Amino acid sequence: VRRIGVFTSGGDAPGMNAAIRSVVRTAVHMGIECVGIRRGYHGLINGDFITLDFDSVSGLSRRGGTMLYSARSEDFKSELGRERAVNTCKLLGLDALVGIGGDGTFRGLLTLADKGLSVIGIPGTIDNDIACSTYTIGYDTACNTAVESIDKLRDTMQSHERCSVVEVMGRHAGHVALNVGVACGATAVVVPEQAIDYENDLIEPIRRSRLAGRTHFMIIVAEGVQGGAYEVANHIREATSLDTRVTILGHVQRGGAPSLRDRVAATYMGYEAVRLLSEGKTCRVVAMDGESYVDYDIHEALAMKKGLDQQTYTVMRALTGLQ
Ligand code: ATP
Repeated sequence: VRRIGVFTSGGDAPGMNAAIRSVVRTAVHMGIECVGIRRGYHGLINGDFITLDFDSVSGLSRRGGTMLYSARSEDFKSELGRERAVNTCKLLGLDALVGIGGDGTFRGLLTLADKGLSVIGIPGTIDNDIACSTYTIGYDTACNTAVESIDKLRDTMQSHERCSVVEVMGRHAGHVALNVGVACGATAVVVPEQAIDYENDLIEPIRRSRLAGRTHFMIIVAEGVQGGAYEVANHIREATSLDTRVTILGHVQRGGAPSLRDRVAATYMGYEAVRLLSEGKTCRVVAMDGESYVDYDIHEALAMKKGLDQQTYTVMRALTGLQ
């Protein structure tokens, strides 16, 4: 491999910059040139790039967002779009690509592998919903941001004796909600993986908590739950008459300087991606298996399934008094 392209795609996540820096510096270390493709597959189609060297990624580890911008590209889903992307790679003399993003980004990489490019994926999403990896870049920072905001909310909810329903990120998965719920000592956590039993899992814990003398309640809801936080709040209001308020944390969870965990994971994953390419490997996703860094064939990775962490789920239910 003589020249590689690196890009970020799909939703951004804190730590993507640290991964870019690591890819570039590892490549330089191995005598490989590096080009940054801006705006994901959109930039690949339109030849939107910058040359990256050791100094151009200086100080990037601590910066949130992605210096290469991120985008979703409908054009890339067409054959014509993909041909244009391959042409850009030819023009730039790229033999390989490293894509940082989610499953959609990895699917895109597969289509380029079919056209003869070497490709490696790095899991970057705050939702931690990539099946092949126990950890994805951005998850820790996003959870910390949510915890910090919820702690602040709790102060005011306590003063006014309210019930707070907080919606956190997680379009298809409840990892953030569950983790944050455990960390914040939530009264209940609602996730898309489990059907909502309003009476037993939500109203009953609030009633018990009230009987024990508590006057404020914190319910964490994942974004992907049907009806979202507003529907959950309506049920609580009707069943308990509590002053129930909804807070949607939203995109604030995507921002901020990455945590130590995200910087370290991103740096290792960036290194691994280039190492794999330098060994002639292609069509791999760098992943974590517990605390170890591993890699999987992209097809295999996309076929994997990931549920909620059962241990965390059991702990959450025990601490909220559920069976
Ligand atoms: P997130 O976790 O934020 O959703 P993602 O990488 O899964 O990240 P997507 O929007 O699903 O985000 O995918 C990013 C881009 O990858 C899409 O805009 C599209 O250009 C490309 N892509 C997705 N799926 C495919 C596919 N099946 N074939 C070709 N390209 C695809």
